[in-house]
Amino acid sequence: MLLYTHPACLAHDPGPGHPECPARLEAVLHAVRAAFPLAPWREAPRATRDALLRVHTRDLVSRLLDTPFDGRLRLDEDTAMSVDSAEATLRAVGAGTAAVDAVMAGEHTQAFCAVRPPGHHSTRGVAMGFCLFNSVAVAAAHAVHEHGLERVVIADFDVHHGNGSQDIFAGDARVMYASSHQWPLYPDSGRADERGVGNVVNAPLPPGAGSVAFRAAWRERLLPALDGFRPQLLLISAGFDAHRLDPLAQLELEADDYSWITGELVGIAVRHAQGRIVSMLEGGYDLDALRACSVAHVDALRQ
Ligand SMILES: [Zn+2]
Repeated sequence: MLLYTHPACLAHDPGPGHPECPARLEAVLHAVRAAFPLAPWREAPRATRDALLRVHTRDLVSRLLDTPFDGRLRLDEDTAMSVDSAEATLRAVGAGTAAVDAVMAGEHTQAFCAVRPPGHHSTRGVAMGFCLFNSVAVAAAHAVHEHGLERVVIADFDVHHGNGSQDIFAGDARVMYASSHQWPLYPDSGRADERGVGNVVNAPLPPGAGSVAFRAAWRERLLPALDGFRPQLLLISAGFDAHRLDPLAQLELEADDYSWITGELVGIAVRHAQGRIVSMLEGGYDLDALRACSVAHVDALRQ
């Protein structure tokens, strides 16, 4: 088990009162360090432009990295950059690609990237929904192009649909995108009939769904699709905003549900991918829930 983070990820500041605040990552880092004092940490490297350009347009890369501004650069109603944000998103993306390299080299079997900003809402050309570059999508493309993998999974249990990850890979059969999410909810995509080229599987759940419906959706719909795909590597968009304490959604999960789903995903990785699994922090906006869920997730990941 390998852990990645970078101090720059704490410096990204989307503005006062914004739910995607540095305290989120501080909570995760403190909780995971306290629970697993012997686990090795690595500093995330900076992602390269070539890695970013595998999934993002030249325009978006240049807008996020080369636009001069003072104070804040507003990208949409919910999404803004401070002067430290470019470095933060480069390190968040770099954590994912470095973690993929480490598990592909057999150094470790599992990795968790404790990073922010999150990424899964950002499409090829648009940064949105608190996200700058789409870290998990860059990691998947890196696995395909640098390691020659033909079947990579992105499993996304963040309470929001990862419209960006779906958009990026909907036409690429080498990457399967599977998501459970509250619907209706931001960003309003993720209906069950959105199937890509057969490589997209969505399980929308109604507000208040709770543990039983969440587990049934994965057991009956998402996990069988992942098993049938026989992935050579699993990536996780690990958002903890489906927890019952989260202020932005109402899916009503418990920390134990994150242990369960992580264990199931580890099982698929062991069956098909020599156990290789890389998880990246996405959303989660209640600090107590973030502490409990990240520890539950990492504990299940390292089994
Ligand atoms: Zn979310």
